[in-house]
Parts: sequence; structure tokens; C-alpha cells
Amino acid sequence: MAYKVTVEGRKCNGCEECLEACTVGMFRMQNGKALPVEDKECMGCESCVGVCDENAIAITDTRVALSNTCQSLLSALDEMETETESRRTDG
Ligand code: SF4
Ligand code: SF4
Repeated sequence: MAYKVTVEGRKCNGCEECLEACTVGMFRMQNGKALPVEDKECMGCESCVGVCDENAIAITDTRVALSNTCQSLLSALDEMETETESRRTDG
């Protein structure tokens, strides 16, 4: 899943607006609160965020998180390469 959907339970008032707004059926109700359904594919459209007056929904783009991880790994590799290069030049 490219997007992680979370609902802050203590903020949710159970209005069910997010259930109406989400075209992929990402939410279901449990004990009067909205819950994201894990195996559904969120498109990251943020329609649910827009309709939630309680600001209870957060959408995280996990591709960005992966990209950040990749970037720090790449810069670590870069540094290692620069170190190796300077050792070669020194020796
Ligand atoms: S729209 Fe917000 S307050 Fe309403 S059910 Fe969904 S998460 Fe809860
Ligand atoms: S961002 Fe869009 S697809 Fe994802 S849970 Fe919200 S309404 Fe559904």
C-alpha cells in the first residue's frame, strides 16, 4: 500500500462522513468510531481528510518515507565512496 491511513480514535465523533467520501471503502465503523480497513488500496486522494470536521484522519505517503530512507542510504554510500577515494589519493 502506497498510503497509510490512520484515524485518531479520541477525535472521531462517528459521523461516518469518511465512509461516504471514500470511493474505495477504506473505512468501517467499530464501536462508534471509524477504522481504516487494512487490505484496501488507498489512492491518497484525501477526500476523507477534507470531510472530517474533527481532523481525525491522517494520510501518510509511504512512498515518500521509502524515498527518504533511500536518499539517506545513498548519501551514506556517497560518503563511503568519497572516503575510499581520498584514501586512494592519500596512499
Ligand atoms: S469523518 Fe472523521 S469524525 Fe467522522 S467518522 Fe470519519 S474519522 Fe470520524
Ligand atoms: S485518501 Fe481517498 S482513498 Fe484514501 S482513505 Fe481517504 S478517501 Fe479513501
